[in-house]
Amino acid sequence: MKVKGKMAIEKGVFGTLSKNRAVEFFILKNKTGAEAKLISFGATLASLKMPDKNGKFTDIVLGYDDLAGYIGGKCYFGCIVGRYANRIANAKFQLDGKEYKLVANDGKHHLHGGIKSFSRAPWQGGTFESDDGCGVIFKYLSADGEEGYPGNLEVTVTYTLTDDNELKIGYQAATDKKTILNLTNHSYFNLAGHDNGDILSHRITINADQITAVDNSYIPTGIIKSVENTEFDLTQSKKIAENIGKFQLGYDFNYILNKPTPQELSLAVRVVEPQSGRVMEIFTTEPAIQFYTGNFLDGVKGKVSAVYKKHGAFCLEAQHYPDSPNHPNFPSVLLQPGETYRQLTVYKFSVL
Ligand code: BGC
Repeated sequence: MKVKGKMAIEKGVFGTLSKNRAVEFFILKNKTGAEAKLISFGATLASLKMPDKNGKFTDIVLGYDDLAGYIGGKCYFGCIVGRYANRIANAKFQLDGKEYKLVANDGKHHLHGGIKSFSRAPWQGGTFESDDGCGVIFKYLSADGEEGYPGNLEVTVTYTLTDDNELKIGYQAATDKKTILNLTNHSYFNLAGHDNGDILSHRITINADQITAVDNSYIPTGIIKSVENTEFDLTQSKKIAENIGKFQLGYDFNYILNKPTPQELSLAVRVVEPQSGRVMEIFTTEPAIQFYTGNFLDGVKGKVSAVYKKHGAFCLEAQHYPDSPNHPNFPSVLLQPGETYRQLTVYKFSVL
């Protein structure tokens, strides 16, 4: 790899919340010239500049220019999602016989942790440099009862940009009462550029033989379904365009990753954008990944006057299965006092 420069971190004020609370931005640069910009509101990845096959750097994640965009936005661009990413049916679950009611913000269901949720929380950020690269550690204390969830929960999310053009996201959390937790990052990628048309000609491979079958509100039926000989099958590299028309809106499904050892960091997805030559590989310790093709992007006004349209980007959200608290046959999402929740997800960028 050509070494062009030095690792560097820049920071400043991105915007101001009520009561004069500053929202900070952090720009991480690595030796090759790649750049990640993070903001403390939602612990959000606001931009990510990676090179194409000719060495041209382009921002490949969707976002807004200012804080007002993130505050008013409904798409979860780049943010950390919690306490429970994805859906919880009928916005309720039980723990030890007690029912917990959550906010219903997706019809009668609960989506992405509720209305305020981690995506709109004022995280505290601090920078660091390590042998691995440079980064930002975000911390947030979610109070007992917030959005209906039990337990005071201390969450730490660490973003690291390495000199090998990897963006690593490490998650840790601890609680003082039994609770449930399912964290993810909700970045929308377009490897041709955040404002460069749709993602239909990207090719994708997901290392998953099964999905969690869902009803027409995207709530799991409890059935684990094989993808073999179906339009869900992405085990071999496929153009996203090939089968997307077979779904009502597009892909919005939770793929169960093939993982010989649970919680092992393993290759989950490879996406290739043939024209720019950009390649993104995702490695994760999580058991599943939601593949969502921006089906609800409906002309959202984004960064530098971009207008984001349907299928203008895709999300690959490493996580547990949706609605796990209501499905005893799904891997557990319980977190007990004294335990530490851990997740590592790595996005590795290269060119063809
Ligand atoms: C969900 C979609 C939802 C989108 C934005 C994705 O994680 O799977 O159904 O529309 O987030 O909220």
